[in-house]
Amino acid sequence: MTTHREPLSSVLDTVGETPLVAVHDTPADVAVYAKLESFNPGASVKDRIGAYMAEQLLERGEIEPGGTIIEPTAGNTGIGFAIAAQQLGLNSIFVVPERFSREKQQLMRALGAEVVNTPTEDEMRGAVEHAHELSSEIENSVVPQQFSNPLNTETHYATTGPEIYDALDGEVGAVVAGCGTAGTLMGIGRYARERHSETYIGAVEPEGSVYGRFLDREPEHGEYKTEGIGTSDPATNELFEPELVDDIIQVSDRDAHNELKRLAREEGQLVASSAGAASVAARQVADRISDGTLAVPYSTVVTVFPDSSERYLSKGIYESFEEWDG
Ligand code: PMP
Repeated sequence: MTTHREPLSSVLDTVGETPLVAVHDTPADVAVYAKLESFNPGASVKDRIGAYMAEQLLERGEIEPGGTIIEPTAGNTGIGFAIAAQQLGLNSIFVVPERFSREKQQLMRALGAEVVNTPTEDEMRGAVEHAHELSSEIENSVVPQQFSNPLNTETHYATTGPEIYDALDGEVGAVVAGCGTAGTLMGIGRYARERHSETYIGAVEPEGSVYGRFLDREPEHGEYKTEGIGTSDPATNELFEPELVDDIIQVSDRDAHNELKRLAREEGQLVASSAGAASVAARQVADRISDGTLAVPYSTVVTVFPDSSERYLSKGIYESFEEWDG
């Protein structure tokens, strides 16, 4: 049990300081820990950028109170920004490609946001373009643009990274995390490298995603079901810093799905597909540390479980792989 906390005046004050919990089924000589981001008030890692970026945009005068945040998002970012906007006296509009989970869109609306859908085939690029079109028509609006705004990375450099290092007294050998915008991994990674230049930084993407092109590889672009990570077009991923990354680990949808089910069955973790992929990759890195093929300063691997499976029950996340609708 955690210790009793002081009463807080806003739910925004509960963003961050999430628990770090061991992942089991790893070699005995290597510890793997996951940062459980579903403990945030909007139940995902994206509450961090919602709170941090909205506050910074107000502070810098890029938006005035009463203005509108317009953001292209797979959903979790929308929920994070919707909470922050509401609590800080702003409006919010989210542009979401159709394929993303119903639950997320319902939650954004419940928080008072407007949701606009763009066709799935236009990918995230279509949502980004539409958000900018809307912003040019709406006065006192801003597109925080999580895919290119350095404040995204800064959020994790300022919060997630230090929290992990505090919890482990700085003894982190490897950081392995999924990349959607890549803000999470770049922020933690930069913090990690400043603490120890030999820390291994591993980016995780689904098979079918093409982040590997940043490392001069030629992965084929294909469909994938894993939600929240991966890219179809590296040109839209302006935050990814190849020099900060040791490797890009591809995880198949099937392996991610098997792992998210294992995490529920064996570890009491109700996490979604991007966490399944992160866990597979973190355990692979732990195996490499254990068998001596990867040298790191400490035998401790840290990963991030970005959100909860409850958000994807309507997509059959706990059904068979074939029935799972991604
Ligand atoms: N998992 C899920 C479920 C997400 O929504 C996101 C954000 N798109 C990520 C992982 C990846 O986080 P980031 O954008 O910081 O790379």
